[in-house]
Amino acid sequence: MIEKCKNCGGKLFFSPKDKGVKCANCASVFPIKYNYNFTKKPFEQNVEPKVDKLASSLKSIKCKNCGANIMLNKQQIQAKCPYCGSTTLIETKTGKLMYIDSLIPFAMTKEEAIAKFKANLLKKFYANKRVFAKFKEEDVVGAYINAFVFDLIADCSYAGVLSYTVEHRDKEGRTQTITKYKDVAGIHNKRINNLTIESDSYLTQGDMMQILPFDYASAVTFEDDFLQGYVMEYKDRLFNDCFANAERIVKRIVQREILQKYNCQDVVTLTINVSYPKKEYNYCLLPVYFFNSTYKNKHYRVLLNGQTGKFGKFPKDGLRIFLTALFASVLIVGIIFLIWFLV
Ligand SMILES: [Zn+2]
Ligand SMILES: [Zn+2]
Repeated sequence: MIEKCKNCGGKLFFSPKDKGVKCANCASVFPIKYNYNFTKKPFEQNVEPKVDKLASSLKSIKCKNCGANIMLNKQQIQAKCPYCGSTTLIETKTGKLMYIDSLIPFAMTKEEAIAKFKANLLKKFYANKRVFAKFKEEDVVGAYINAFVFDLIADCSYAGVLSYTVEHRDKEGRTQTITKYKDVAGIHNKRINNLTIESDSYLTQGDMMQILPFDYASAVTFEDDFLQGYVMEYKDRLFNDCFANAERIVKRIVQREILQKYNCQDVVTLTINVSYPKKEYNYCLLPVYFFNSTYKNKHYRVLLNGQTGKFGKFPKDGLRIFLTALFASVLIVGIIFLIWFLV
């Protein structure tokens, strides 16, 4: 890692446009080598190797408010928790770190992210604009979240009962919905690439899925210079727990495909046994901007994919939704009256 600007000693930060680290003081740029690589490795190959070199250049911080674990460069100062905005941060001992295979660099600066956020907030009719009325630049944090990205071949054998419905017209001409059943059994093989599983317990899989997918074609071999100016999430979910989560998702996908195969809508019972002739992974850092706000003592957060620019969910404006629904129903009642009056 380049610790300080070689020309003036100033603080450095990663600059997506310059493909390097840039000095905050004299704007000198020091390029980083982009070694495009997203190789997966088999499970047997060192599931959790430790790297102490990286750990020694980082410090760990824990948020007393929300419990998030954050990794920072030694020189970096973080005043607020990127997740909850709390200032009650304490420095903790940096343990051994998991070997990081790859990283997707941020593709947009914080300024670009903020401009995008403001434009999006205006566009979203139901977004609660009051929540972000006092939004400031320091409420945005760029963080590398970490994930296991799996390539899996799932060989599945299944057996069970599925159901579907048919419309039936009886003698009096009334339509009835009848549920019918199908016994099914067979083999279903599925190949899944880049199944991305969040490995920090602070963000849920659901949170992360809001901003998927990432484009892994631009993943590079991990270099700690990419972290300059950003924070890094700290993996605290075990590899096996993450894989168990991946397996649940695989079963959900396979179940959906089996239903489609038989033109059925629901599962009555279905047992799926899966074996994996191929299972490989890459432990990867992913760029995310967090937009935080505290409004009426409640914390709100919107996520932005720092590579593709895809936003997660915005907090909804309940009053706006209610008023729109009210207006719509008044309108409908009005139209009914009008038709009734005219006819
Ligand atoms: Zn400089
Ligand atoms: Zn926090």
